[in-house]
Amino acid sequence: MKLIDVHAHLEDTRFEEDLKKVIGRFEKTGGVCIISSGTNPETNRKALEIARKHNIVKVSFGLYPLDALAKEVEQNEDNSLRKIKPFNIDEELVWIERHKDECIAIGEVGLDYNWPEFAKHKEKQIKFFEKTIALAKKIDKPLIIHSRKAELDAIEVLEKHQCKKVVMHCFNGKKSLIKRCVENGWFFSVPPVIMRLEHFKMLVEITPLKQLLTETDAPYLSPVVGTRNEPSNITITIKEIAKIKNTGEENIAEQIFKNAKDLFNL
Ligand SMILES: [Zn+2]
Repeated sequence: MKLIDVHAHLEDTRFEEDLKKVIGRFEKTGGVCIISSGTNPETNRKALEIARKHNIVKVSFGLYPLDALAKEVEQNEDNSLRKIKPFNIDEELVWIERHKDECIAIGEVGLDYNWPEFAKHKEKQIKFFEKTIALAKKIDKPLIIHSRKAELDAIEVLEKHQCKKVVMHCFNGKKSLIKRCVENGWFFSVPPVIMRLEHFKMLVEITPLKQLLTETDAPYLSPVVGTRNEPSNITITIKEIAKIKNTGEENIAEQIFKNAKDLFNL
């Protein structure tokens, strides 16, 4: 069984100590590819470094909506888990373009209206998001989209720019929006929290298998609250999808790997 994790953050400090072991555990389950997503200048470079060291790791360069607002919102421990030094967005996009041959996607990018101090900068968020879309189109790479509490706006921006190669990561939008993404030919990457969240079960039920991918968002979104998530948990997602689609895990894994292979040109 060939497994793929299309969205993780191996550059997170929580993997510093034992990354090799984490990758080894994934390989033991049949893991053949992890796409590690940067979110800002520091993590983009770190993700690239990891991808250069480990064959199984591919990189996607991103501009996380909250990190992109580092200049506008002072991020302290009270309002965010993220501590990002302000940076020049255009310069970062130039850096990404210069390293385009070493990445297989643009992400994680998108919109995040979860916190009021960030949500009040909607226009800026959309402007930054559009810049990343323009770059993805220019260098012809798929987009990996974050859309927390901003699902409709994210879809509208992507539709406006006629984006075709799109992965909606950990999508929490309602049924009608899921259907809209399916009609647009976009993909959903499903995290292992599907084992305890009905929302993702519903998403898998109404999305054709040809438009599903598997992700962990490791170290975040662990299926077991309070623990670190890691790519080997992809097996959990495969199991759940197999139950819902009423077919074997092998079948599911094979089709999902094919989906990813075609989309990311693996
Ligand atoms: Zn993520």
